[in-house]
Amino acid sequence: MSEVGILGQALAEHADRLMPCVHCGFCLPACPTYVRLGDEADSPRGRLHLMGAVVEGRLDPASDAFRVHIDRCLGCRACEPVCPSGVEYGALLEVARDVAARARPPALPTRLLLRIFGSRPGRALFLGVGAFLRNTGLASLGARALPGWGPFRSARFGLAMLASTERWEGLRWIRATEGQEAPEDPAPPTTGPRVALLTGCVQEGLYDRVNQATARVLEANGCQVVAMPGGGCCGALHAHGGDLETARRLARTEVRRFLDADVDHVVVNAAGCGATMKEYDELLGGDPAESDAGALARRVRDVNELLAELGPRTGAPVPCRVAVDHPCHLLHAQGIRQAPLAVLKAVPGAEVRLVEDADECCGGAGIYGITHPELGGRIGADKVRSVRATECEVVATANPGCMMQIGAGLRLQGAPEGVMHPVELLDVSYRRAGFYDEERDG
Ligand code: SF4
Ligand code: SF4
Repeated sequence: MSEVGILGQALAEHADRLMPCVHCGFCLPACPTYVRLGDEADSPRGRLHLMGAVVEGRLDPASDAFRVHIDRCLGCRACEPVCPSGVEYGALLEVARDVAARARPPALPTRLLLRIFGSRPGRALFLGVGAFLRNTGLASLGARALPGWGPFRSARFGLAMLASTERWEGLRWIRATEGQEAPEDPAPPTTGPRVALLTGCVQEGLYDRVNQATARVLEANGCQVVAMPGGGCCGALHAHGGDLETARRLARTEVRRFLDADVDHVVVNAAGCGATMKEYDELLGGDPAESDAGALARRVRDVNELLAELGPRTGAPVPCRVAVDHPCHLLHAQGIRQAPLAVLKAVPGAEVRLVEDADECCGGAGIYGITHPELGGRIGADKVRSVRATECEVVATANPGCMMQIGAGLRLQGAPEGVMHPVELLDVSYRRAGFYDEERDG
């Protein structure tokens, strides 16, 4: 069989998943790339058609006709919930990306990033340098100094993303006023589930404060948080980026690590990682580890989801206006819409306003803003405009990629709004309520 045929075969194994598409086009208005480009090939239906052409051997997976449009997909999965036929677009996209990448290597930034994040020392070095650039202010300086055109545009945006991972100190100055006392707190729960936290790669390297806040908030809600040293990468970046082999290798390690910890739940505070881990049985399908992967996948909970299930304790007032934006991998891939709102409801004084197009992708999608500066920039600019229209002080979103994408957009506009994970806001509220042992948790 020819190389084209062999690669097409990899997609053909999923041909039965292409069949349910009845070409109705209901998914078109939900697709951010189709809405902006108006090209059928940049719609979910068009991309499914291209996948079908590869399966039938009519299209070379190395051709631009296939690669460009598959690559241009954000992987936001907004097309899934609106599809009346239940087409599993996300799963098909991952296979299509893998097929395209094996037919012709992806662009250099994507290749480099996947290579770096595939190894523990690579990740540690890359994120260590990133944290250094952020902590010394060099990232912020570079984002301000570089011009926003031509070859500088992607570098400028990347530095702004990095700079945006700094802790936002705005809430520090917002104090409760008279009449906003904390409601009486019932006795803290003592026997909650035993949980382990995925500390992740980007999350551990650049958002360790979110991990720390997550652990504190879970403990304050009665969970027994099991320490899991030596955090790994869940493989989401590789699964979404067209390197299924590395994604599977990383996933197997995480399956073993978390099953050995024997916990009730694996808690994830990055929506993209949670979506991948909940689908580990799909990723490792056909693998001897499949049943273990399924066992682990069933234990995975997004932190908002678990807190909403537990009914979070109410903290002390933090009077502020909070814009909420839904990460695609929380809303469309995991079907979680209300849980972040339930978390923020436990913060008295927080006035929550939903971003007008909260259901639409922010353009983050990994490093989309860097690899597709033009289209990613347009999608990101629309999101920043909607966020600012809420006239809130802070935007809450539960995924590091979205936090960076929106944060970078705000920074490049010189906007004062901050970006936080919903759990960070609850953490501030709990700290003010005196739920923590300050010496230990300070
Ligand atoms: S909504 Fe579903 S069935 Fe209709 S065109 Fe889109 S993917 Fe196909
Ligand atoms: S995943 Fe998002 S960008 Fe890709 S086809 Fe579906 S809606 Fe469009």
